[in-house]
Amino acid sequence: VKKIVVLTSGGDSPGMNAALRAVVRTASHYKIECYGVREGYNGLINNDFTKMGPRSVKNIITEGGTILKSARSLEFKTAAGRKKAFENCQKHGIDGLVCIGGDGTFKGAQIFCEEYGIQVIGVPGTIDNDIFGTDNTIGYDTALNTAMEAIDKIRDTATSHNRIFFVEVMGRDAGFIALNSGLATGAIGILIPEKKDSIEELFATFERAEVAGKASSIVVVAEGEKLGSIYDIAKATKAGFPDYDIRVAVLGHIQRGGSPSCADRVLASRLGYGAVVGLMQGKTNVMVGMQSNKMVYTPIDEAVQKHNDLDQDLLKISEILAI
Ligand code: ATP
Repeated sequence: VKKIVVLTSGGDSPGMNAALRAVVRTASHYKIECYGVREGYNGLINNDFTKMGPRSVKNIITEGGTILKSARSLEFKTAAGRKKAFENCQKHGIDGLVCIGGDGTFKGAQIFCEEYGIQVIGVPGTIDNDIFGTDNTIGYDTALNTAMEAIDKIRDTATSHNRIFFVEVMGRDAGFIALNSGLATGAIGILIPEKKDSIEELFATFERAEVAGKASSIVVVAEGEKLGSIYDIAKATKAGFPDYDIRVAVLGHIQRGGSPSCADRVLASRLGYGAVVGLMQGKTNVMVGMQSNKMVYTPIDEAVQKHNDLDQDLLKISEILAI
């Protein structure tokens, strides 16, 4: 490869900048010309190419978000949009594409690669950790720590007032953030989409907590919990336990921001490097990930279709320890 383009797409995540920096600097090291496009696939369609060098990515390893900005590009979902994108790539003589994002971004990359034969590598950047082919996605560790710190603070005030707090964390389809932040903060209940939860079970948990003499309790709820919205669950609990002082806190987008953790910066640096090296080795239609501390390339198709299973042991451990 002689000329590559890099973009960040879909939901942003802390560490995308670190990944971008690694792509740009690795390309520079290997004398590959590197362009960045703004706002995900929109940048390809709008011919918004900027040449990038080592100095264009100075001081961004510490920054959350993405300096290239991200977008959800509806136009790229159309054949006409992708044609424009390809023609612009041709104009610039691009022969490789690095897409940093989540599963939607990868679906787009896969289609683009299959339609036009352009060499494509995906880098998993999403806080949800819901991508197969890597133990962790870039941004997940930072989001987890943000959630943990927020829940710790909520616990301080919950304990002062004998309150039950329902705390919603991000994760539309995956309970990784909920399970791990719940375990790390000693939540008495963790409600996640991967497990069949019931209100009866939740009530039994509260009854056990009462018997155990707990003054305050935290229940962590994943955004995609199937039992209902966090407000529905809190309302049902109030109906079952009218004496309880119940509060709801939705952590929301603070989980997507902030300076990336050390683990995310290191992961992003490795994967950004791995993306460029993969392109140099002729790899295409794959995603670069880290599994058991080894760099692995997984077909994008597999990365999108399959899912990392939640560790059932963690669920059991959290229940045992929350007595
Ligand atoms: P996150 O999961 O963190 O939100 P994501 O990458 O899954 O990130 P999406 O909005 O689902 O976010 O996808 C990002 C972009 O990828 C879309 O806006 C669109 O431009 C492109 N994309 C998604 N699906 C397709 C598809 N089937 N065909 C072409 N492009 C697609």
